Amino acid sequence: MLYNLAQRGVKCVLFEKGELTCGATWHAAGLVTRFHGGNNFRLWHDEGVNLFTQWQNEGTPLSFHTPGSIRLIPNEKSYIDEARYQVGKAKIFSSLFGCAEHHMISPDEIKEKHPLVNLDDTGIYAGILTEGDGHIDPSSVTNAFADRAKGLGGVIEQKTEAPPAAINESDHWQLVVALNLLPSKQWEVITRTASGEEKRTVADFVINAAGLWCDKVGAMAGVRVPSVVLQHQYCITEAIPEVKEYHDKHGHQLPVLRDLKGSFYVRDERDGIL
Ligand SMILES: Cc1cc2nc3c(=O)[nH]c(=O)nc-3n(C[C@H](O)[C@H](O)[C@H](O)COP(=O)(O)OP(=O)(O)OC[C@H]3O[C@@H](n4cnc5c(N)ncnc54)[C@H](O)[C@@H]3O)c2cc1C
Repeated sequence: MLYNLAQRGVKCVLFEKGELTCGATWHAAGLVTRFHGGNNFRLWHDEGVNLFTQWQNEGTPLSFHTPGSIRLIPNEKSYIDEARYQVGKAKIFSSLFGCAEHHMISPDEIKEKHPLVNLDDTGIYAGILTEGDGHIDPSSVTNAFADRAKGLGGVIEQKTEAPPAAINESDHWQLVVALNLLPSKQWEVITRTASGEEKRTVADFVINAAGLWCDKVGAMAGVRVPSVVLQHQYCITEAIPEVKEYHDKHGHQLPVLRDLKGSFYVRDERDGIL
């Protein structure tokens, strides 16, 4: 947001109580896709992947891998109908807006693209193949946005002091502690440093981008943010000889697999999988 606002000439400052990416971002699996069932998100996803591709091609280190992705479609009418609908819609978005198309592929074609997958007795009917997407390092991409935002005049205030021995909220630099609506309809933002020093910033608008803390920040302005924190787990294997063999042979990663019914995904992580 800081990057996009700065790009449009908006004077803006980002307050971060810790360091950039220290919230949920640093441990995201980093999957980025050109697929989305919704209309607006489909455009945003495509725009994001295009931007990351461009930045990486220009030399920004993003660890962006684009082996494509395959969504596994179970042999059930509702999943098959939805898959056909999405593939059809992608064609329209491709012709209207230049978005990527998706393709329905057979189990044999899935196996061809991802030789390590075993579809025996799984009842998988088909896959939706999306090319040119994959996964990115979340910290690298955040820092790429931050650098560009700063270059455009955006300001980032984050922890600048050595981490204290005992970490608690008041130990962090630029913790937003209060949001007060002024008679001018502007917002007074109070931030506090580790040493207790408070700073006042007045802004026309405040964007609450506090991730899993957004309800706390919302409450400072008397706004209830109806969000809850959910656990999301992943595990990373050690190197798997078959994965390494695939990389050595093909020079790129295996496609990302997404199991729509089982609600899990698998992607390569070095020579193992996540
Ligand atoms: C295990 C896991 C895997 C995931 N995998 C993917 C994936 O593959 N692809 C994908 O797109 N998404 C994935 N996600 C989701 C993704 O990580 C989040 O949607 C994204 O990181 C949210 O970013 P954010 O900037 O909104 O929040 P955060 O990264 O949480 O940032 C919020 C920031 O606000 C700061 N903050 C909070 N309160 C205050 C305050 N009072 N004052 C100042 N600063 C404050 C915090 O320090 C934090 O840095 C995954 C998430 C998890 C947990």
